[in-house]
Amino acid sequence: MNKTKKAIISGAGLVGSLWALLLARKGYEVDVFERRDDGRKRGFVGGRSINLALSDRGWRALDRAGISRTIRQMAIPMYGRMIHHEDGSLSFQPYGLDGQAIWSVSRAGLNMALIDAAEQHDQIHFHFRQKTVEVDLAHNALYIEHEDEYQRHEAPLIFGADGAFSAVRHALMKTPRFNYCQDYLDYGYKELTIPPAPDGSHRLEPNALHIWPRHQFMLIALPNKDGSFTCTLFLPFEGELSFEVLQRERDVRIFFDKYFLDVVPHLPLLTEEFFKNPTGTLVTIRCKPWHYQHRVLLIGDAAHAIVPFYGQGMNAGFEDCSILDELMEQHGEDWHAIIDHFNATRVRDGHAIANLALRNFVEMRDRVADSKFLLRKQIEKYLHERHPDRFIPIYSMVTFSHLPYHQALEQWEVQDHLFERILAIPGVDQNWEAHTDQIERVFQEWLVHSSASRM
Ligand SMILES: Cc1cc2nc3c(=O)[nH]c(=O)nc-3n(C[C@H](O)[C@H](O)[C@H](O)COP(=O)(O)OP(=O)(O)OC[C@H]3O[C@@H](n4cnc5c(N)ncnc54)[C@H](O)[C@@H]3O)c2cc1C
Repeated sequence: MNKTKKAIISGAGLVGSLWALLLARKGYEVDVFERRDDGRKRGFVGGRSINLALSDRGWRALDRAGISRTIRQMAIPMYGRMIHHEDGSLSFQPYGLDGQAIWSVSRAGLNMALIDAAEQHDQIHFHFRQKTVEVDLAHNALYIEHEDEYQRHEAPLIFGADGAFSAVRHALMKTPRFNYCQDYLDYGYKELTIPPAPDGSHRLEPNALHIWPRHQFMLIALPNKDGSFTCTLFLPFEGELSFEVLQRERDVRIFFDKYFLDVVPHLPLLTEEFFKNPTGTLVTIRCKPWHYQHRVLLIGDAAHAIVPFYGQGMNAGFEDCSILDELMEQHGEDWHAIIDHFNATRVRDGHAIANLALRNFVEMRDRVADSKFLLRKQIEKYLHERHPDRFIPIYSMVTFSHLPYHQALEQWEVQDHLFERILAIPGVDQNWEAHTDQIERVFQEWLVHSSASRM
């Protein structure tokens, strides 16, 4: 075996297992060390579990790994947001143009499908219940703990795909000029379940991501294949309406009756789950560089953990894999060049999606029910349909394109200037469709004067 064709990955989560698959397809021998047990032993059959929204960036990586057909069979398309207003009414906001969707997929099911696919390759070896405890950066070695014993494993390439609290990143943090910052939101999250209806069907519209925006907090629900939905409540830890004050069954019931009345009949285990399920934290991690001397590289959440409000954490991690895969095609086994290029371009994209995800939190919990926001969405849709190459709404740039995240963020800021002018057209807030000539004129002027004309 050629020594340079050997790699170690710490973490067999979503990103680590996909990356193992892509490396093996390029002829690498890969050892993957995972601190948890093999989830497949528990006999998971693809039903209820935490679910994630998979979108175009993620699909591209799955395509490259040759497994998107398998994953599509496990996923449910969501064509838009279904907003549950406080008065009980519903409104539907499509995510993109006709047929564009994000896909709800079970996180555990996806992880197991990736490990199954990776195990088809003889040169991938998974080692479960084997935890990275230390990294010898000078000699490219990991110290692995397994049943109270420690082993040392060396390889020319080491990838840290061990998530937001990465042991590999921890080692990089001790090296000179490594920048690191972590920020927790004052919000936590709690998962709850809407079981299937007695006939096995979904109790809510299955092809939508449901949102109950309530300004300072929100509830969302994503469909599962077995007819259930996984709901997530995002709520401040402390304050007047917070996890801190919801201490008794009665408090939880009153809170849900007041703010989420239409969903209460669909949550038979509400209080049981509320007190049994843990309250998760939400962290943003920014660091750089993502590598140590072009031999040890962080990918996925280990490099860029972000809050979940753009549904991009996993998608960004999968995009890391497809970009590295493309760079392997350009540079062969010149890992100095691959990692140089990756670090030079990708770190700023990681920081950009972190910022976008934080901003989308405000949009989801607060603005999706706001009339000015809805007006802008309608005009954005109109411009996007008329000028699909010249105007792309931010949600579509992030979700349905492969434009680098930092460019999407820059474009969005430029679009804000356009909408300041459009929303200042007299009467546009009353009936925008009567002002399409003026909207068009402002748009054409903006195109000439803004960098958007170079898109
Ligand atoms: C509530 C919530 C909702 C989300 N929704 C979405 C969504 O809709 N769409 C989306 O794209 N993303 C979403 N995300 C983000 C997504 O879950 C993560 O970005 C994704 O799981 C990152 O994958 P990863 O493989 O990098 O890390 P992880 O999934 O965290 O995997 C890391 C793996 O490394 C292992 N590990 C950790 N430490 C060690 C060690 N020392 N040694 C060996 N193994 C180790 C862990 O056991 C784990 O298996 C959401 C996140 C949250 C919290």
